[in-house]
Amino acid sequence: TDPLSSVDPEIARVLELELGRQRSTLEMIASENFVPRAVLEAQGSVLTNKYAEGYPGRRYYGGCEYVDVAEQLAIDRAKALFGAGFANVQPHSGASANAAVLSAIANPGDTILGLELAHGGHLTHGMKLNFSGKLYNAVAYGVDPETFRVDMDVVREKALEHRPQVLIAGWSAYPRRLDFAAFRAIADEVGARLWVDMAHFAGLVAAGLHPSPVPFADVTSSTVHKTIGGPRSGFILSNDADIAKKLNSNVFPGQQGGPLMHVIAAKATAFKLAAEPEFVDRQERTLRGAQILAERLTADDTRAAGVDVLTGGTDVHLVLADLRESELDGKQAEDLLHEVGITVNRNSVPFDPRPPMVTSGLRIGTPALATRGFGDEEFTQVADIIAAALTPNPDVAALRQRVENLTEAFPLYPGLEQW
Ligand code: PLP
Repeated sequence: TDPLSSVDPEIARVLELELGRQRSTLEMIASENFVPRAVLEAQGSVLTNKYAEGYPGRRYYGGCEYVDVAEQLAIDRAKALFGAGFANVQPHSGASANAAVLSAIANPGDTILGLELAHGGHLTHGMKLNFSGKLYNAVAYGVDPETFRVDMDVVREKALEHRPQVLIAGWSAYPRRLDFAAFRAIADEVGARLWVDMAHFAGLVAAGLHPSPVPFADVTSSTVHKTIGGPRSGFILSNDADIAKKLNSNVFPGQQGGPLMHVIAAKATAFKLAAEPEFVDRQERTLRGAQILAERLTADDTRAAGVDVLTGGTDVHLVLADLRESELDGKQAEDLLHEVGITVNRNSVPFDPRPPMVTSGLRIGTPALATRGFGDEEFTQVADIIAAALTPNPDVAALRQRVENLTEAFPLYPGLEQW
């Protein structure tokens, strides 16, 4: 019954400091967000105590009558939100969802074809140190060296050349929409399953602001914690009844033991909130924020400083700043923005001349600030601060002050004293 602060003051201090950090800085890591208080409450609950191997109504443990309700709500809400016939909400993370997907639709040694990691793909799409690159014969398509976009003719050529069992569409760092119908046609032509990993843009899909992959893909996987803004975790959708059965058995017992019922309850809450009008408004502000940022970083002064934006703009919640011509490399730019109070991550650009620990790019996302309440006006200010930081002779103290003014005007978790 003792509070954390008396049981474990060291960890309590970490929580306090982290809450302070989140409150006093501008979070622009494209894969992050702030969960609502309701999600914090569901996740920090007694449901963490419960073992529930199996699925609702078919458990290997007693006492599941209430957690069954939570999981069924999460399943039903995920299906309704994305118009899917089947949902599995048990994956602990995006990576474990993806492990289950591949084990359901491919056999070890099969060929999988996805977007090159260095061009914006994800580790679980075939990186050689990841399970996906070790268990499967992973091959990749890259973006076009001129346009930096995925060229469907190249995807088709690669698919015809390698005849993959699984064609993967999805990304972690790519600022444009993918053509799911074209991916479907190529998958059909070469007899591949189409797997779309919408982890990054799922919130935009749920809001109707990005085409849905669900009608085209054999399987769609996602995380809940990026644009959706729910608890860290994953889920999987499908409209194919046979694949659905395989997905269930490949999540449990294939990949996981007991599901995290407190996280599943929090997912249910996040999916409920994602069906509300405020969610659409938040996703609209997210998109506009990214567009405002892209416009600002392609203005004359930033271009003159060697700063540009890959593909010239964005259709999604992130911008890829291109620093190949800048004196600042990705690492220096990340550190400089950190000093100013803006958190981003450096990111290799395709065909990057600088090494991966340095890079020539920044990935800058707007979801967390949109959740914090930012609209056009605030995103215009943020874009100005970033532009000033990336052009010569920035006044770091003045920029830090502008960041502080914004964080104070949009308090995070007002009234929350601990966690
Ligand atoms: N898939 C994509 C496209 C991602 O960007 C990520 C996260 O970075 C994941 C999967 C993995 O999610 P997690 O970090 O929850 O394992």
